[in-house]
Formats: sequence, structure tokens, C-alpha cells
Amino acid sequence: MQQTMPKPADLELVSLTKRYGTTVAVDAINHHFRAGVYACLLGPSGCGKSSTLRMIAGHEAVSGGSIVLGGSDVSHLPPARRGTAMMFQSYALFPHLSVAENVAFSLKMKGVDGPARRKRAAEMLDLVDMTAQADRLPAQLSGGQQQRVALARALITQPQVLLLDEPLSALDPFLRIRMRSELKKLQRELGITFIHVTHGQDEALALADEIVVMNNAVIEQAGPARDVFDAPRTDFVARFIGSHNVIALAQGRVAVRSDRIGLTDPANARLRGRVSTIEYQGTSVTLNIHADGDQEIAAVMPDDRFFADPLSEGAAVGLTWDDAAMHRLGA
Ligand code: ADP
Ligand code: MG
Repeated sequence: MQQTMPKPADLELVSLTKRYGTTVAVDAINHHFRAGVYACLLGPSGCGKSSTLRMIAGHEAVSGGSIVLGGSDVSHLPPARRGTAMMFQSYALFPHLSVAENVAFSLKMKGVDGPARRKRAAEMLDLVDMTAQADRLPAQLSGGQQQRVALARALITQPQVLLLDEPLSALDPFLRIRMRSELKKLQRELGITFIHVTHGQDEALALADEIVVMNNAVIEQAGPARDVFDAPRTDFVARFIGSHNVIALAQGRVAVRSDRIGLTDPANARLRGRVSTIEYQGTSVTLNIHADGDQEIAAVMPDDRFFADPLSEGAAVGLTWDDAAMHRLGA
């Protein structure tokens, strides 16, 4: 289907700050989102993700700094004039309006006439594959269908940047995985920037071209998903992104992926330890090892490798890894 979305534009956050009274929710963050990127804002609850998103959308006033979209400062424009749109949770649909009327609602507010409105709404419903449900009420839809209507309703304003705040959190795990691949596909088709807030590492890794990790109101690390996963720069990022060990060595602290830890003869190992627990996980096995320096280290290996020569709990092991697998951590 032919889309009429505007040309995507770069989005820059410049020293962007949000204060609520004495709480600093977002502390002078700087970031440049390239046009057309699928970015995930990842971090624990309370780190400032929603505040950042709401400031970009214009639903929250900035306390300092600016938001620059396509070279213009939009920090003080009303939401409808920014070129951004926010996808709200499914339950924000109007219960008494049909699917088509929900999708067309913002055009009605803008004074667009009935026939033009219905035509645009039909295009949007086609885009999200909901044409057959156009006349239903939200209550007559499944959770996944409601999400698609919410998406169509946000996209009808032809945003350059679509902002999604934990869009999949209300769905059951099965549907969440299906909807996330639909989101990615849609973003690729439209070619516009998506900024998707999540506290789920798996979700961010599955979707994002770029991951922006936030903690305590600041950006801890940002970059392509594989760079952030493979080379975390701080303890926090290594722990939060998951599947990593933070290991204290004489020279400092390093992060090593659990699946990069090899077991070897204790005599020529980097660290020695004892297997404390073994967890079978189907395709892999995780060994939790109590190692030198009173550290707990996880080693993950493919199930066939483990069962070829299985270890038991209590076994003495040596731990090793390649230099390239080791990433030095900053404060
Ligand atoms: P996240 O989305 O990452 O969970 P938020 O941006 O919602 O984080 O919140 C960041 C911080 O700002 C938290 O400490 C939160 O309690 C506080 N906060 C958020 N919204 C408000 C508000 N409307 N009034 C006061 N404090 C708020
Ligand atoms: Mg939030």
C-alpha cells in the first residue's frame, strides 16, 4: 500500500531536563536519534523514561534544555504541531466509538471533513490489518487488535516520530512477542523513527537498532543493540542488560558474557571456584560457580556440550575467557 508519511527527520535532545519539585526525573540528557531508527529507551522503573518520552511528545513541559526535530526547536510547541505522536495503551480507546471513528478522531478535532477522514482512517486500518473490524467497538476486540487500533490512531497524524510507552506491557507473553514483530515490520514499512520505552532487555534487544540505557535520570550508554550488549561500559549496564558477569580482578572490574566463560583445569585458569548449582534450561545449561574473591559467576553452555561430560554440584573448576570477551567497566 502507498503511504503518505512525511520524510523522516533527525531528533535531538539537548541538555533535556525534567524536574518535579525537587525531584530531578531527567538530568540534562543529550542524544541524537537518527531519522528512521528504531530506538529503545531501556531502564528500570523510575529512571526517567516516561518523562523523557512525554517531553518529546509535548505532554509534559521541559524544565530545561531543548528538543530539536528536523533542525527546528519544538520544545514549546503543542503536541499536535510537533510532528510526533504518542501511542497510548489500548485502554485509552474511546469505548463508545467504533474502531474507524477512534482512528479518525484526531482528524475530526482538526476539522477534516467526513469523507477525507474516513478515507484516511481506512488507509490506516489497512496498514495495521484491521479493515474487517472497522465497525466494531473496542470492547469487541482482542488485546492485540486494540493495540493495532491504538497504533493506527497514532499514525493517522502522519508523525515523523512515533513514541511508544511500554506498548506491549498489557499483553500476555505470547501476544507480546507477536506484536513486537509486527511493530518492527511496521516501522520498517513506514521508515519513520520509533522511540519505544521498555524495561525489558529482551524486548529492547529484539526490536532496537539503537538502545539507550537510562539509569537515575541520565543516559548510561547508547549505541547499536549489539554494541551495548557485547560491550557494556558500566556495572549497571552489564547487570541490567543481563547475561553478563561483573567480575572483580586485581586490575579492575570487567564484564564477561556468561556464554563466554569456559571451564578448564583449575591449574591454568583465570579464576578458580566450585559449582554451586546447575540449572538445565533446555537448549542450554547454566552453572552457578562460587569463585575466588567470594564472587558468584554464571557460565552458560549449550546442553549438548554440558551433557557430553557433565559436572556435578560441588565440583572444583577453573574459569577462563578470551581477552576479547572481557570489557573493562567504568565507575
Ligand atoms: P520511568 O518511566 O522510567 O519509570 P518516570 O519518568 O515515570 O520514570 O519517573 C521518573 C521520576 O520522576 C520518578 O522518580 C517518578 O516518581 C518521578 N515522577 C514522574 N512523574 C511525576 C509527576 N507527575 N510528579 C512528580 N514526580 C513524578
Ligand atoms: Mg514509565
